[in-house]
Amino acid sequence: MNVNQQPHMASPYGQPQPGYQGYPQSGYGGQHVPGGYPAPYAPYNGPASAYQPGPPQGMRGPPTSGAPPVSAAQAYSQFGQGDIQNGPPPLGAPPQRSVFSQPFPTAAPPFSAPGPTQPPGPPLASQQTFPQAPPPSQPPFSSAPPQVPPASYGGPPPPVQASHPRAAPPTSQPAAFPGGPPPTSTPTQYTGPPMQQPPVSQPSSFHSGPPPPPTSIQGPPLASQGPPMSQANHVAPPQPGMLAGPPVPGMAGPPPQPGMQGYPPQQNGEYCRYSCCLSGSQANKGSEPFVTGVRGQAPPLVTTNFHVKDQGNASPRFIRCTAYNIPCTSDMAKQSQVPLAAVIKPLATLPPDENSPYIVDHGESGPIRCNRCKAYMCPYMQFIEGGRRFQCGFCSCVTEVPPHYFQHLDHTGKRVDCYDRPELSLGSYEFLATVDYCKNNKIPQPPAFIFLIDVSYNAVKNGMVRIVCQELKTLLDYLPRENPDVQSNIRVGFATYNKVLHFYNVKASLAQPQMMVVSDVADMFVPLLDGFLVNVSESRVVIESLLDQIPDMFADTRETETVFGPVIQAGLEALKAADCAGKLFVFHTSLPIAEAPGKLKNREDKKLVGTDKEKSLFQPQVSFYANLAKECVAQGCCVDLFLFPNQYVDVATLGVVPTSTGGSVYKYTYFQAQSDQERFLNDLRKDIQKKVGFDAVMRVRTSTGIRATDFFGSFYMSNTTDVELAGLDCDKTVTVEFRHDDKLSEETGALMQCAVLYTSCSGQRRLRIHNMAVNCCAQLADLYRNCETDTIINFFAKYAYRCVLNNPTKNVRDSLVNQCAQILACYRKNCASPSSAGQLILPECMKLLPVYLNCVLKSDVLHPGADVSLDDRAYLRQLVSAMDVAESHVFFYPRLLPVHKLDVECDTLPVAIRDSEERLSKGGIYLLETGLNLFLWVGANAQQELLQNIFGTPAFGQIDSNMTSLPILDNPYSKRVREIVESFRAQRSRYMKLMVVKQEDKLELIFKHFLVEDKNNSGGASYVDFLCHMHKEIRQLLS
Ligand SMILES: [Zn+2]
Repeated sequence: MNVNQQPHMASPYGQPQPGYQGYPQSGYGGQHVPGGYPAPYAPYNGPASAYQPGPPQGMRGPPTSGAPPVSAAQAYSQFGQGDIQNGPPPLGAPPQRSVFSQPFPTAAPPFSAPGPTQPPGPPLASQQTFPQAPPPSQPPFSSAPPQVPPASYGGPPPPVQASHPRAAPPTSQPAAFPGGPPPTSTPTQYTGPPMQQPPVSQPSSFHSGPPPPPTSIQGPPLASQGPPMSQANHVAPPQPGMLAGPPVPGMAGPPPQPGMQGYPPQQNGEYCRYSCCLSGSQANKGSEPFVTGVRGQAPPLVTTNFHVKDQGNASPRFIRCTAYNIPCTSDMAKQSQVPLAAVIKPLATLPPDENSPYIVDHGESGPIRCNRCKAYMCPYMQFIEGGRRFQCGFCSCVTEVPPHYFQHLDHTGKRVDCYDRPELSLGSYEFLATVDYCKNNKIPQPPAFIFLIDVSYNAVKNGMVRIVCQELKTLLDYLPRENPDVQSNIRVGFATYNKVLHFYNVKASLAQPQMMVVSDVADMFVPLLDGFLVNVSESRVVIESLLDQIPDMFADTRETETVFGPVIQAGLEALKAADCAGKLFVFHTSLPIAEAPGKLKNREDKKLVGTDKEKSLFQPQVSFYANLAKECVAQGCCVDLFLFPNQYVDVATLGVVPTSTGGSVYKYTYFQAQSDQERFLNDLRKDIQKKVGFDAVMRVRTSTGIRATDFFGSFYMSNTTDVELAGLDCDKTVTVEFRHDDKLSEETGALMQCAVLYTSCSGQRRLRIHNMAVNCCAQLADLYRNCETDTIINFFAKYAYRCVLNNPTKNVRDSLVNQCAQILACYRKNCASPSSAGQLILPECMKLLPVYLNCVLKSDVLHPGADVSLDDRAYLRQLVSAMDVAESHVFFYPRLLPVHKLDVECDTLPVAIRDSEERLSKGGIYLLETGLNLFLWVGANAQQELLQNIFGTPAFGQIDSNMTSLPILDNPYSKRVREIVESFRAQRSRYMKLMVVKQEDKLELIFKHFLVEDKNNSGGASYVDFLCHMHKEIRQLLS
């Protein structure tokens, strides 16, 4: 069937959706429901066919009832308002992100000798009332032109056909960069650095001229290649004369045309797929939206600013594919080596002007599904026999339409109510799930949040305990809820720990909180059932009292040892006792060396780096946490871990539970209240408030011929098809790889349907469905014309980062290089027009593949410098595994903006420049963001007026490089720069701390690490050298 939707009719769902009405919320309170449920989700997949005629219930219509809008309402701030300048954040709502702590410490707090050891623990549990003596145990603590040559050498590029609706005419032309002097003919404008796409830009061709490429990636770059080589990575051939001048970034050519900076049109000339991006220019906003109804069409790049209109396929904010035309046969796929994968972010936050998925209620019998493959009703189901049956687009099986869902067909065979039902006309929507879809066939209880705070010596000393307690008092008012006018249903609980655990009874009827100490950590249990998990509004006074007292109670602790396994066990047991799903927020400082399950030893050994044993450093040192994670998943217990280490804590092991339960790990190395609390608090606020679902199971169904074979992300799998996530928030991404198991047809294309069953924060069981149809192709050229490099890189990075668990990093790097060389060699051999072997010809939409791949290869995980800690590597490895495409893009190829070129009169950002030192001018000021870090680099000769405007001092020497925020000055520059910083932060899921780096200052070394086109001091190749290496590999494959 044709999955393309017809022109959209006025959408009936133009309004906020009704919220949750269907489900009665079961009450909560401290009732203790015994018995956990080890039970699996039998129902998922299961129910389905029992359609009982019921009252026809369509989707919930436009909100007529007073139902609260589900979407926009959320209280969270992701989508900030702050984006004004930049327009909405590029892609999805990738909220902010933050950081991995830098390797540049600030003095670590001295460690004091372990305090007196704890007295033998008190009885298992002792109860005490607060302000009293401390608890006993509390001691101290191209278009391949099908056959046309891609753009190339000197000659004018072939016209690109624009197929994208919003396509803008390609402006720049691909150019070639010979190894020799740059061609002078096509003066392509060097539009400027790529924003979106860095480097390689255009060119699809690279004449390897004279200088033979260096042979090794790691090898030192051929020094002296000088100008010619360095040019090679210019987007376009530089104009003569340009070489000589000082490298003023972005200044080389004619001024970029508005909206077209940076990149030349990509493959089909999609307007801005490869152009503007960078600046997130507003120019696009307001132009034609990206409509999802055209099968096989690659969406705008993640770095562009676009509006999406759902016409039957999921928005690119939910799903991005590596290829939108997939090969018909597995032989073809194998030949090309292009990975077939989808990067799915099921609960992605959408910009305010795009509707959240509508909620559909099919009544008591639940969602309508295919009898055989269980795919959910979607636009790919074809109604036949006058509407009495439908044929599944995935498995072709014919299923009866239940009477209550019957509708007549029009003369084209379409149901007359097609556009009134999201599930028949949209790519993404939700179904209300029935009790059959609930664990143990029981309507879920509302989830709970449990805060577990390390109160050992380090935690108290660095200020963490006080900051957390203080902040929680406010944050408890912002727990996730679906309707901002209603109080959150989420219950909360509190515990603190060092070598023992302290649980707190904060029941509303108490005058003071009570502490219960559990010192026998070998067999964790929760000493109180009633009063541990409470409703915030009912127990507010007691909770505030507790949070006020905790910092003082442990202020003089001398206990330095901590446990960790029992802490998670305690939270898990509490959720089990309350018979609900939930999230644990663990605030932890040190390697858990105290005697207890999950105890760890310090195994940090940098000498293993680069050896065959390096992989062991990424593996957990004990199996305890993997087993614990499994139990957590069964209970719907998601764990978010906030680390404040002063030394090795073994992130590879501590991160196992968070990364297996859909949780997150945040790390603040050498945490100091003054300089780091802003970052920590912003992360915490966002983490607590963000949209989250619990007890989630995701399954990806595909049409006959392909199937999902591999999955990457923070989740657990107990079988080969179901991705289980104890928690799933709006930032978590799952990457799915597909393989052929049969031939595909060009006519029908290939379909995928991602269904996520989850419990909303209000306790409602729902199914979120995302559908995606792609084309199938019999010609390799079609595959290469419709790929998305950013998504391919996301896949490669996750794949490689998982491979390091079992392979030496060098092997992993080599195999990545080899696969990319095969991809490009296959293109060259089958799609490019014949030309001399000395030319490097890249498909238009993969012209940036080499530069990005090089960034992955030289990343800290795969090729660390001596200063990168093992914990940082483990942390980054885990972090990248759940990143979406926008995040992985900026993480591997940071965004670098010349701030001194800012036009304060207009809203657009200056064009981003390429990440290379030679692009920096001494007279400039640049902002660099990686999604985790934010740097403001100040050139030694920056204009005094600019310095005065931004820093409040005209003297370079007087700029305080310790500042983490810019002074608020009353001039347009100051205002604009601060707005840009804020808008960048608003786009990331984690908060980026600002670091001011003065040229030649010692911090510059850290900054330079992110100039990824340059050779780095750990041996990572420069982009130019790598390109030469790649070319050589390709030639070898071709010969
Ligand atoms: Zn089916």
